[in-house]
Amino acid sequence: MHHDITKTGFLLFLFALLFPFNTIADWQQQEAAIMGTAITVELWHEDQTRGKALIEDIMEEMRRIDQLMSTFKEDSELSAVNANAAHGPVTVSKELLSLIARALEYSDITTGAFDITYASAGQFYDYRNNKKPDDRQLQKALPAIDYHHVKFDKSFSTVQFMHTGVHIDLGGIAKGYAVDRGMEILQQAGITTALISAGGDTRVIGKRWDRPWHIGIRNPRDTENIVSMIPLENSAISTSGDYERFFEEDGVRYHHILNPKTGKSAHEVLSSSIIGKLAIDTDALSTSVFVLGIEKGLKLIDSLPETEAVIIDNRGNIHYSSGLARVQ
Ligand code: ADP
Ligand code: MG
Repeated sequence: MHHDITKTGFLLFLFALLFPFNTIADWQQQEAAIMGTAITVELWHEDQTRGKALIEDIMEEMRRIDQLMSTFKEDSELSAVNANAAHGPVTVSKELLSLIARALEYSDITTGAFDITYASAGQFYDYRNNKKPDDRQLQKALPAIDYHHVKFDKSFSTVQFMHTGVHIDLGGIAKGYAVDRGMEILQQAGITTALISAGGDTRVIGKRWDRPWHIGIRNPRDTENIVSMIPLENSAISTSGDYERFFEEDGVRYHHILNPKTGKSAHEVLSSSIIGKLAIDTDALSTSVFVLGIEKGLKLIDSLPETEAVIIDNRGNIHYSSGLARVQ
């Protein structure tokens, strides 16, 4: 079809005259690299300056959470816990304590598939530099993987590890938590239409114009392509995939989601996406279901209210939780 570029240009010019810039720029979007991932905030605000300031508040909150919970930053609160908690109780902020407590609840619900002490072995992997633990290192680390080793005391706000060699990492839950914190900032400011995402964790409120938001689930072996579009309103979706951080050696894919029983990457599924109300829950559950696999994963999701799953197994087949299977 022939496209008249001059005509389009004229219409745009007319549009700009009719709607001064500050009124047509009500949709605001911004990206930043924080927590080792891409943060996106998109929102609708009548006042452009106020909208921009809110986005900056969210980015600042993400940086604060990263500074608290990063295992890459030696001066983070979490790094102090990892360095000292095997020697005795370590005092932590209420915020870190409650996130650790939440992670331990997920360990209970998933009978240990979600386990922040995975890092006792996980710390020996470096996916960027094709590094993995050797058998001896792994055998030594395995006894330290068990969430029962992590004890906390709410009244004293302390955390302690009851075993040497225990390391924890909140990578499976912290981004979802950060997305929820960002959404609280927006909701307190009266925003009713927004999207916040941190890598594979996304939460939306309201609609985009008069339609739901749509979030794509990628083909795990051709990540530029979307295999399923999920319409979302006032909910969260998280995807865990074996294509996010990995290297390959002798035909084996070493990736960042570990089975706590073996200290090695889980291989039953290629990606698991969870839909629910809060991003902290969908985040922890997407990692959990990735480890649990199809049968146990779907059973868990079907037992939880307002929670659905789309899982792609290692043969490329898509599985839906019962609430979604009904509408397929
Ligand atoms: P991402 O969005 O970073 O890809 P996921 O939600 O898929 O994150 O979770 C993967 C992260 O979770 C890993 O990078 C690691 O920090 C952590 N993790 C890996 N295995 C487990 C596990 N079995 N239990 C809890 N956390 C895990
Ligand atoms: Mg997760």
